[in-house]
Amino acid sequence: MLWPSDNDRQHRNLDFPLGTDVKRATHLVFLLLLVIGCSLASLTLWKVITSRERVLEDINTHSLNLTQALSTYSEGIVRQSALILLDLVERLETEGSGPAQIERLKKLIGRQQPLMPQLSGITIYDGDGRWLMSSNRPIPASANSSDRAYFIHHRADPSREPFIGPPIRSRSNQEWVITISRRFNDATGNFAGVVAVTLGVENFLRLFGKFDVGQEGAIGLSYTDGSMLVRYPFREQDMGRNFSKSPIYAKYLVDRSVGTASFTSSLDGVERLYAFRKSDTLPLVTTVALGKREALAAWKFEALLSFMVVTVMLVVTGGIGWMLIRDIRRRIAAEGELRVAQQQLLDSNQQLERLAMNDALTGLANRRCFDETLAVEVHRAQRNNTPLALLMIDIDHFKLFNDTYGHPGGDTCLLEVAKLLSASLRRTTDLLARYGGEELAAILPNTDVEGAKVVAQSMLDRLNRQNILHESSPFGHITVSIGITVGSATTLDRLQSLLDSADKALYSAKQSGRNCLAVRSS
Ligand code: GH3
Ligand code: MG
Ligand code: MG
Repeated sequence: MLWPSDNDRQHRNLDFPLGTDVKRATHLVFLLLLVIGCSLASLTLWKVITSRERVLEDINTHSLNLTQALSTYSEGIVRQSALILLDLVERLETEGSGPAQIERLKKLIGRQQPLMPQLSGITIYDGDGRWLMSSNRPIPASANSSDRAYFIHHRADPSREPFIGPPIRSRSNQEWVITISRRFNDATGNFAGVVAVTLGVENFLRLFGKFDVGQEGAIGLSYTDGSMLVRYPFREQDMGRNFSKSPIYAKYLVDRSVGTASFTSSLDGVERLYAFRKSDTLPLVTTVALGKREALAAWKFEALLSFMVVTVMLVVTGGIGWMLIRDIRRRIAAEGELRVAQQQLLDSNQQLERLAMNDALTGLANRRCFDETLAVEVHRAQRNNTPLALLMIDIDHFKLFNDTYGHPGGDTCLLEVAKLLSASLRRTTDLLARYGGEELAAILPNTDVEGAKVVAQSMLDRLNRQNILHESSPFGHITVSIGITVGSATTLDRLQSLLDSADKALYSAKQSGRNCLAVRSS
């Protein structure tokens, strides 16, 4: 039987799962930081992407509105010009184009022109392209415009509809102008000449320039076939240039009249956001283009700022997390060291306990342990109302053994006897102790006299069988005498009397010739 010990309990206490918990906490902190970091990054990314889409949407809406306003403006001017021309054609066809009629028309135009400031001049040509009248300057000698596109168009085309010509340099003042023209016929219905209104490109540029389209932006008014009529900012080389290969004409305007697009210009390699609108009634297209990089500059700055703030936040959060994890790891290390120290302490305690409870020579329980165990077992026997047997064992003629074989030999013999007698105890609750000198004692809980006698006899037999040489003994070998007493619930009150009875029984055994057992009731 194990003598009273807290070993099990102490060992269990060592198994507290704090280290595992702390490791788990480290993982949780890491996971938490990961979730915070990912959420923050994805939220910011989502916000930046959606705000970019919103900015692009706003730009498209504003650009489309602008094309609407500019288209209305351009249509208005062209319509006004066409109306003036209609009136002039009417008069020329009914009144003729003689000098008197032309003079009258000049006066009429002189009154109309101030009402329409965009109109830079009206010119009447006869059937051969000669100038019959010019509203804003004297007719140059031998002036002839039969080579102009509008004149060639009307001469060839009997249609009475107005014609919007390509931009040209005015022969009267060298300015860039757009012409709106109509043909007029003679009394027989044949081509008699052309009346043309010239609109100064400058007027359009002045209006277009009032809208902020940035450094890379542009506003354009063109013919539906892609011929540029006006472009702001003004570029000489673009006047009259055909842009029909541009995606706006080649791709987008094919199946719709209004829309937005984004592509890189083949002319200057700048990516632009385009809004385009084809007039419902006139062959005109208005386009507003904004440099994409320029238009998104504010958004880009905001996005950059957001990314910087998030990066700083992530770094700070990561830093705090790292410190937290480092602290937790330190705690793990400290706890590990603590556990090792605790284990060492427990080991030393156990060793001390063993030393305190064991006999150094025989390895049996010592006297202290015997006393404590006896007290515990007496209580248990009383509580459970069970018998408790006590055996007092004394080696016979041991003094002589020492004298014969020397004290160390005696020690060896004592150790051997202890081992042999231990083998006779079968129950784990039985205890064999060194009571003192060459005297041993056995506590046999829940054992009656018969049981105790069986154990004692087994001890005697075992020793006899072992035949440890003892020349000086009358038996020739080592023997023991055993005194037995068995305490019951009623007699166990007096512990000392139990010990006395066992001692007396031993004395009786000695008296009876040794190498035997004797029983004495307590
Ligand atoms: P008996 O018991 O048969 O009457 O004779 P005995 O010679 O054994 O007498 P007693 O019990 O009085 O003698 C005890 C002796 O045992 C005295 C002592 O020298 C010896 N002894 C006690 N403890 C030890 C020990 O630890 N080692 C050795 N070698 N001898 C011991
Ligand atoms: Mg003795
Ligand atoms: Mg003896």
